[in-house]
Amino acid sequence: MSEPSIENHWRSVRDHSRSFWDFTYVYPVVSRRSKGLSIGINLNPDKVCNFDCIYCEVDRVTPPKTKAVNLLQIRAELAAMVQLAQSGQLAQDPKFSEAGDLTRNVRDIAFSGDGEPTMVDNFDECIQVAVDVKRAANLPSTKIVLITDAAGLDKARVRTGLLLMDAHQGEIWAKLDAGTPEYYATVNRSHIRFERILANLELTARERPIIIQSLFLRIHGEPMPTSELQAYCQRIQALLAAGAKIQEIHLYTVARPTPVAWATRLDRATLDSMASVIRESTGAKVAVFE
Ligand code: SF4
Repeated sequence: MSEPSIENHWRSVRDHSRSFWDFTYVYPVVSRRSKGLSIGINLNPDKVCNFDCIYCEVDRVTPPKTKAVNLLQIRAELAAMVQLAQSGQLAQDPKFSEAGDLTRNVRDIAFSGDGEPTMVDNFDECIQVAVDVKRAANLPSTKIVLITDAAGLDKARVRTGLLLMDAHQGEIWAKLDAGTPEYYATVNRSHIRFERILANLELTARERPIIIQSLFLRIHGEPMPTSELQAYCQRIQALLAAGAKIQEIHLYTVARPTPVAWATRLDRATLDSMASVIRESTGAKVAVFE
């Protein structure tokens, strides 16, 4: 079957706002990387993250509606959103009019949000909620996606949650934006050591395939230096040599205004040429998204 055509100019693709109707935790988006409707679950309504990426789109100025993660409410909201999608009601919302019937098929349930999902204490219970709703709605092929900065992948209850994901079409999209601690400090501005991020990627990807997501951009007008891209490739090579299974690398760039004016998007030609370098140097499959 051919892939659905999803256009970047669609409102449902451009607007990845985490606020929809009166839902608190759950939000629908149409995503090219998901190849259709993705139902997001925001496990960080408090907007707290252990990274402070220079390109982060989270609005940390508007005060949060709530700071608590209420699992009962997440369960109810997720079930309601799935029902809205399957019944065709979602397609009638003006935001989704261009996507039409694509919104009837829930491609994935994605743990993402206004911060890092693995920061919650009960990550395994959150995954269980998605598993339960998926089962009740008869969605055996719907994926459960974790979009993560990888900082918490070594936590015990996260590892339990990942095992649960493995048994229910789980997919991990883990961030790696740099090849050196210095560039990581510039782009991701985190107190978590770069070595821990790399160790977590290795630990996790030795147990199941993962997707690496890398956002490349211009900093003060300059793309990632060649030496940094080489260092990035060496990190990927080292992960592969250690037994990590990298299903694919997703390259993308800034899509919306960034908090700092000097972090700007890369053009498609530069992204494509970086993708070629990575492919040739590592042998990994690389896809480019804008
Ligand atoms: S990891 Fe994600 S939520 Fe956290 S600062 Fe970076 S882009 Fe924002």
